[in-house]
Amino acid sequence: MTDNKTLDVPTLYIVPTPIGNLGDITQRALDVLSSVDVIAAEDTRHTGRLLSHFNIQTKTFALHDHNEQHKAQALVDKLLSGLSIALVSDAGTPLISDPGYHLVTQCRQAGVKVTPLPGACAVITALSASGLPSDRFSFEGFFPAKSKGRKDKLMEIAQVERTCIFYESPHRITDSLQDMLEILGPEREVVLARELTKTFETIQGMPLGELIEWVEADTNRKRGEMVLLVHGQREKKAEALPEEALRTLGILTKELPLKRAAAATAEIYNLKKNALYKWGLENLD
Ligand code: SAM
Repeated sequence: MTDNKTLDVPTLYIVPTPIGNLGDITQRALDVLSSVDVIAAEDTRHTGRLLSHFNIQTKTFALHDHNEQHKAQALVDKLLSGLSIALVSDAGTPLISDPGYHLVTQCRQAGVKVTPLPGACAVITALSASGLPSDRFSFEGFFPAKSKGRKDKLMEIAQVERTCIFYESPHRITDSLQDMLEILGPEREVVLARELTKTFETIQGMPLGELIEWVEADTNRKRGEMVLLVHGQREKKAEALPEEALRTLGILTKELPLKRAAAATAEIYNLKKNALYKWGLENLD
């Protein structure tokens, strides 16, 4: 579809929908949603409200995490028979922490054209206003739900120099920020972007220690949909040792000579033992 009037058939259209502000739907998204034969929606009732707001009558079909693998082939068959389908999720861009991966993969394997529409996406919206470096970034999906998983993830990203971005749930924000403090330390710049495009949109960035105090000062700051953005490690790798590894080194040196404590810590955290040894010489008694 190049002139917004004629649909290419068969095609699967990937159609982003607003992440809060309905004014963020694009004209092209409205044209595609009005013109396709069927809309595959994560939640047909949720999408139904969006469609009725824009007076779109296209029928919908449920495609969510629990049935996608099973239903994708049926949708590919419909496409191959000559139908056009739009894929939407509840909000934002399908496939970005949302269903659609299996359908898109199977369409491409079957030679069905997949046409993506640009549009709302919380990760990009948050990054664009965060003030953090945007030349290199990685989207890490939802922050792990359990503390062990979070700490493992944080150890993995502790020394990377790019901006790392997570989706987060309001129920876990306090625990997650505490885990971040433990692994990344209080100086790491972190941005909390919540309720983007909505009435109570808030984008607050500060060193982690201060951000935790700011969040705890008002329960409203823990509410709503949120994105966490972590500034990449600023210093060179050798100097940038994770806080938790340094704590472990401190504990081990009470029982072992520094050289052996540094070697053991290096093995546990997959770090360079010389860097730990050097840090120990400079910082431990
Ligand atoms: N596909 C969506 C996208 O393109 O951003 C993301 C879907 S994911 C299931 C939902 C998560 O995205 C939320 O828990 C939150 O972390 C983030 N999110 C979605 N809308 C948001 C908003 N308006 N403000 C901040 N974060 C948002």
